[in-house]
Amino acid sequence: MAKVAIVTGASRGIGRSIAERLAHDGFSVVVNYAGNQTEAGEVVKQIESKGGKALAIKANVGNKEDVDRIFQETLKAFGQVDVVVNNAGIMPLSLIAKEDAETFDKVIATNLRGTFLVFAQAAQHISEGGRIIAFSSSVLAKSFPSYGPYIASKAGVEGLVPVLANELRGKNITVNAVAPGPTGTALFLDGKTPEQIAQLSKLAPLERLGQPEDIANAVSFLASPDGAWVNAQVLRVNGGFA
Ligand code: NDP
Repeated sequence: MAKVAIVTGASRGIGRSIAERLAHDGFSVVVNYAGNQTEAGEVVKQIESKGGKALAIKANVGNKEDVDRIFQETLKAFGQVDVVVNNAGIMPLSLIAKEDAETFDKVIATNLRGTFLVFAQAAQHISEGGRIIAFSSSVLAKSFPSYGPYIASKAGVEGLVPVLANELRGKNITVNAVAPGPTGTALFLDGKTPEQIAQLSKLAPLERLGQPEDIANAVSFLASPDGAWVNAQVLRVNGGFA
């Protein structure tokens, strides 16, 4: 039977690339999304057109019942869970002085609570030899103004990773995070001027924007037999942006 991967936030951006790459690698893939049903359906169709298996599941990663349902529906459809990639995330920017607690709560709910809930279900249901992959961000090292809520959420994610790795001792399950640098998706591009995009693209010594496929390559490695000895790490996939 094919191995099974759950990818959250897989209707577009980095998550879409990961879903398509893991399908190419031979996984049956659950394509989770928050609202964009049409785009999630296109990802499923794209995978199926290449002979793969995929299932779209609408669920908010910040909601416990929704996350539990992702795992129940995956087990019902595919019988097991081998790889869990919690890629879903949002990045509304807000200066700390604005005291925008609503934005703060929203980012923490999706990025940090979402990771906690997905980790919990993954820890309960993932098979022996499984891989759990969370998403942080290389922007942590920059401390840019207005990134406070986002950086707080991703710092929390980086804190959870080695704790879960320790909790899963003896089970042959790895837990890691991938921390992309600036990557050409709506999350990064929306709301920025062409000048800002050009400037941020040049910060990495490799002097270009990351592409979703660059990040999917790293996730594919962590999910593959070659990634077996990488555990409790944050892999900064960013062209040297530091
Ligand atoms: P996009 O904005 O392009 O895509 C976000 C995806 O997450 C969509 O599929 C969206 O679904 C889904 N999503 C959003 N909120 C939820 C939720 N509450 N529950 C379930 N799914 C949700 O983002 P990216 O592809 O750029 O980002 C992917 C990850 O990479 C994020 O964790 C982000 O923080 C991280 N990252 C990105 C960087 C970048 O420069 N792009 C840099 C560093 C880290 P829908 O389409 O239905 O709205």
